Amino acid sequence: MITESSWIKKVIKEEEYKKYMNGEKDFINDDEIMQKIEKNKNPDPSKIRNIMKKSLEIQTLSPDETASLLNVTNPLLWEEIYETAAKIKKKVYDNRVVTFAPLYCSNYCVNNCLYCGFRRDNKEEVRRRLTLEEVKRETGVLAGKIGHKRLIVVYGEHPLSDAKYIANTIQAIYSVKAKTKNGYGSIRRVNINAAPMSIEDLSMLKEIGIGTYQVFQETYHHETYKKVHPSGTLKSNYQWRLYSMHRAFEAGVDDVAIGALFGLYDWKFEVMGLLYHAIELEKRFGVGPHTVSFPRLTPAKNAPYVQKTKYKVSDENFKKLIAVIRLSIPYTGLIVTAREPARVRNEVLPMCTQTDASTRIGVGAYSLWGKEKEQKLNRQQFLIGDDRELDTVVRELSEMGYITSFCTAGYRCGRTGKNIMELLKSGKEGSFCKLNAILTFREWLDDFASEETKRAGEKIIKREMEEVKKSATRAYSPQVVEELENYYKRIKNGERDLYF
Ligand code: SAM
Ligand code: SF4
Repeated sequence: MITESSWIKKVIKEEEYKKYMNGEKDFINDDEIMQKIEKNKNPDPSKIRNIMKKSLEIQTLSPDETASLLNVTNPLLWEEIYETAAKIKKKVYDNRVVTFAPLYCSNYCVNNCLYCGFRRDNKEEVRRRLTLEEVKRETGVLAGKIGHKRLIVVYGEHPLSDAKYIANTIQAIYSVKAKTKNGYGSIRRVNINAAPMSIEDLSMLKEIGIGTYQVFQETYHHETYKKVHPSGTLKSNYQWRLYSMHRAFEAGVDDVAIGALFGLYDWKFEVMGLLYHAIELEKRFGVGPHTVSFPRLTPAKNAPYVQKTKYKVSDENFKKLIAVIRLSIPYTGLIVTAREPARVRNEVLPMCTQTDASTRIGVGAYSLWGKEKEQKLNRQQFLIGDDRELDTVVRELSEMGYITSFCTAGYRCGRTGKNIMELLKSGKEGSFCKLNAILTFREWLDDFASEETKRAGEKIIKREMEEVKKSATRAYSPQVVEELENYYKRIKNGERDLYF
């Protein structure tokens, strides 16, 4: 059997990232970022309004433009920025919110990140890796009882959760057909959040049907990165992580997601880092990140940096950073997670596209569904701020005027990578998705919703149907409207998984 230390030695393939570097330099230049933030202080309101116009045309901003936004101090101008951010979200993604759930498969980890409960030195963590049978059981609850269609599957970095294990768990998840009152529910889209991998491993995951590949850089600031990822660990290699998405593209995985863990370093710097990352991917591969995440540090057991950091992000700055990302990379999806309390999530939702619900992050926690709600810090990575059930989240979203989309059609019809980027930038993806949102929402309401949620959801469906009919001949041809009505009736009669 392979030992942990011999496995560690084989993970990083220097030649797979060094070829992208300019000698010792990667595409994040800390001094340049600092200078840009400094140079663009006290921006003129007319300059900010011109930048907003550019974002509304769904064009990626330049680093100087983003730095100007970050330097706005006038509260009224911030209100205009929030309004613009909400307009962009509506223009690109309409009033849809996509929901998903995280599924933690293993909390073994060889790394020692100072902010994470899974770190090697946290001896109080109860370690567990799900067997494939257990993965199926968890999936059964998520797809059969709660009604999720989309997961983000999460793993610590360890030989026990290597690429082969990840591949096996993805296949196990796709294989589950869980009984529901009208038939069966299944997970149609498996995204993963896992450690950086080699091109060979990513090609294998592409082959078995991985959805989005998500890796957060945590902090783009080199010195802080070094401080919070102790040397000698796999994760201490900044560039192996920074170029994860380059390797993904090389492996044919063209649906990639980036993020920064806010609270490790200055939030303005991290927003600039995310922008540089998006620009680099656009330049090299013609495709930017499909989503950007901005998790904020939350308490974790035996994770000293969480208490110590002087960079904690306030709720006010959290809203600002999301707005600036929305304007800077206007085509991208933005994910707000259950780390945030419901109040904060609702506040930033007009700018975001995805959120999780019924979230449990203990390994094996969904199988205890209905029996145990208490969060145990020695069994999970950190504490979440919001454990509302999917039914409640869907109802509240409906009451706020949003349609919850369970659509996964885009990926299954090849609308990924360059194809989806062009549709998003031209505003055309929104119209496809509107139809699929209606159909999948109808399906979900019939299969999973409580009576109260169903009532709230029906109102939204009615409004959406009317909007589609009103825009017949403009956005949709009469044939498309007819087909929508036909699909809708078939779903009401019990057929499932019909999409455009
Ligand atoms: N082990 C893999 C890795 O590090 O890339 C998988 C990801 S880890 C299980 C998921 C993400 O959780 C990390 O990338 C980090 O951004 C976030 N995270 C870690 N500790 C956290 C904390 N205390 N509060 C909030 N998010 C945290
Ligand atoms: Fe391990 Fe990831 Fe946690 Fe770091 S963030 S300790 S790599 S699980």
